[in-house]
Amino acid sequence: MVTLADLQVRSLGPCTVPSPLSHYVGGRATNEYYVGEDDRVLFDDTVELIQRRGLPLEELPTFETGGPRARLFFDPGSVRVGVVTCGGLCPGLNDVIRAIVMELHEHYGVRDVVGFRNGYAGLVPGLGLEPVALTPDFVANIHERGGTVLGSSRGAQDVGVVVDTLQARGIDILFVIGGDGSMRGAHRIAEEATARGADIAVVGVPKTIDNDIPHIGQSFGFQTAYSRAAQSIKAAKIEAEASLNGVGLVKVMGRHAGFIACYSALAGHDADFVLIPEVPFALDGDNGLLEHVRRKVAAQGHAVLVVAEGAGQEHLPHDGATDASGNARLADIGRLLRERITDDFTSRGEEVLFRYFDPGYFIRSVPAEPSDSVYCSRLAQTAVHAAMAGRTDMVVGRRRHRFVHVPISYVTHRPHHVSPDGDLWLSVLESTAQPFDMR
Ligand code: ATP
Ligand code: MG
Repeated sequence: MVTLADLQVRSLGPCTVPSPLSHYVGGRATNEYYVGEDDRVLFDDTVELIQRRGLPLEELPTFETGGPRARLFFDPGSVRVGVVTCGGLCPGLNDVIRAIVMELHEHYGVRDVVGFRNGYAGLVPGLGLEPVALTPDFVANIHERGGTVLGSSRGAQDVGVVVDTLQARGIDILFVIGGDGSMRGAHRIAEEATARGADIAVVGVPKTIDNDIPHIGQSFGFQTAYSRAAQSIKAAKIEAEASLNGVGLVKVMGRHAGFIACYSALAGHDADFVLIPEVPFALDGDNGLLEHVRRKVAAQGHAVLVVAEGAGQEHLPHDGATDASGNARLADIGRLLRERITDDFTSRGEEVLFRYFDPGYFIRSVPAEPSDSVYCSRLAQTAVHAAMAGRTDMVVGRRRHRFVHVPISYVTHRPHHVSPDGDLWLSVLESTAQPFDMR
């Protein structure tokens, strides 16, 4: 059970430098813009949950509120900042980079911002990856493009060497935009800096297209991802409907969490079956997927399936292969389902027309949609405020419509999943009318 102590964000020291915000707002009263240092955002969101804890208000688990502070830890005139993007692509990375640079520049007057190239590899000397100066000119139009202007990478780097680089370059603040692995790396960098007595703030903007990082609200890029996935599902529906015994299958992202599958299916109500990693299913037997697909096609003339890439892995052989960061490689559930469903029809002498859509890499590389762009900018601004106030070893997130600071160790201690007993999965079952349990 979460405690208040689990949610305490680390600070490099007291904030003594007046914020330049008052200059920025032309001398208007600034108090209303500042976040009170003692203000907190409740972890629980219903009266029942709060009552169940039986704790006094000051002991309830709460998050530190994000936003601009009246006093800063770092002097904006001399602070040096680095930005790095790591892991797989996700819509909105460039929006986050741009907003970090612009917030530092416009609000705080910080001029010394560099981008490390190709993930943590860019913090390792000798690999030929010189940092790039991040100026307002450089970032002006980058949000119009997908991907990351800084490049990314996977693969382990020596945390000691990374902190050597930060110290050698005089970096005071490092912004890490990346997934769970990147955040584990950021935590180790923050710890190593502290062990050396170096005042380096490490602040993360969590990137997970799968929305599988807990306690941060919805992750940036997720909305763009499921909107695009929904377009593929619509195409699958149109193809399947137009064919005699048409079966459309869309494989969407979601290695361990089926959020994209659920949201994209709910967006258009075109899916008849949604398969996610959190809910196992049988292929064979009277209550298996193949039988249900056959019945659906018999009743409706066609069927549409949405499958998260991590679903049904128990039906596939695994060779233990991993990527450069040590993440297990998934076997291809989409291909298996295509083979098994097609065989199931043909073995009965029935015709089937199978249409397989795999929009994964396409979706990762598109620019963020407007709602995500807004979210990216505001997350990035929150990250800048936190770092300037000397917060470290933390990520930014959004809870209860408030921006919050969350310790990195608290977002990496477990992944975020679709609960098979929760209201999201129930909505999916209601929308698809698929069997409650296919086992
Ligand atoms: P995603 O999985 O969403 O694409 P990610 O950030 O999880 O993003 P990874 O490739 O797992 O992607 O990790 C990114 C970087 O973080 C890599 O350079 C990797 O070596 C580093 N990293 C991962 N886990 C750790 C860890 N436990 N300690 C230090 N560094 C780590
Ligand atoms: Mg990861």
